[in-house]
Amino acid sequence: MGSSGVDLPLCDGVRRAERRALAKAITLLESTRPDHRIRADALLDTLLPHTGKALRLGISGVPGVGKSTFIEALGLMLIAQGHRVAVLAIDPSSSLGGGSILGDKTRMERLSVAEAAYIRPSPASGTLGGVAEKTREAMLVCEAAGYDVVVVETVGVGQSETAVASMTDMFVLLQLPNAGDDLQAIKKGVMEIADLVVINKADLDAAAATRAQAFISSSLRMFGAHGVAEQWQPQVMPMSALRGDGLAAFWATVEEFHRLQRANGAFDARRKKQALAWMWDTIHARLQADFRKHPAVRQALADTMRDVTAALVAPSVAARRLLDLFERPTEPTSESPPTQGHHARHH
Ligand code: GDP
Repeated sequence: MGSSGVDLPLCDGVRRAERRALAKAITLLESTRPDHRIRADALLDTLLPHTGKALRLGISGVPGVGKSTFIEALGLMLIAQGHRVAVLAIDPSSSLGGGSILGDKTRMERLSVAEAAYIRPSPASGTLGGVAEKTREAMLVCEAAGYDVVVVETVGVGQSETAVASMTDMFVLLQLPNAGDDLQAIKKGVMEIADLVVINKADLDAAAATRAQAFISSSLRMFGAHGVAEQWQPQVMPMSALRGDGLAAFWATVEEFHRLQRANGAFDARRKKQALAWMWDTIHARLQADFRKHPAVRQALADTMRDVTAALVAPSVAARRLLDLFERPTEPTSESPPTQGHHARHH
């Protein structure tokens, strides 16, 4: 390791897409040890010029919709075309302390042994924000290793879809064919961020899949195109991941989306917006952690929270008081109340 703290053999190993180096680099990024963080940041600095060239594809859907079947089939098709595919996952259940929904070893068996593919399960613990940040960094490592398609997968629960949409170039939502019959199946907030909706398992009930396609298409038209600059009307397409029907059409749509977004500048705009959002997310997370650790804040927090929930103090007022405690320079502890000293100075 050089004086700059960069582990050059590790960098070289990542650039050559050696699996051990990739795993080691991502483990380093996921570590919470401060000395690891310094090395991880140095690694990211060195790798950064080699990142950003992949197509980043976000994929979400409820458990059982067919995400792993779909990603495996897609990955195998892309590899056959000469692409190199990395698959990362964000498992919100890990941050909730429950069992893992994603990431068990039996998933994507054929893709995981393919030379041109790399599959990494979700970071194991932490807040969703923390898991998302680790995944973004792992994405950069995969890009530096030359994977030109990075799939970020998540389960369709909670805020994780938004996290994935905000770190990818295109966000794809997988739906079941019965979606058209069941208004509850359409989560408006998620539909609004989808660039493409795939009705999977169309082989089970083609008529239902067609109904779902029509129903979701009209819902999407109500939400309108994404953003002013993007000029993209989200599309809906049927799929049988199990049989591989619709995969080629899917990829053609992804490429068309990518081509359009690059041509009209939306691609770069989205990437820039995401880069800044990532920076601010990291700052917010750190500030909040520091805030919670601050001795005066810690001392007052429980009582203040109780007062807020009991409506004894307005939430905004409570927040300002806690922030004042946080921002006040730490004084040497003194038994005398501050008002006394203040008073004394006037005499
Ligand atoms: P995930 O939980 O979203 O990752 O879903 P899986 O990929 O594990 O799929 C759940 C089940 O649905 C498995 O038994 C798959 O074989 C099945 N499945 C996935 N895609 C299709 C499909 O297109 N058609 C049919 N009939 N079954 C599918």
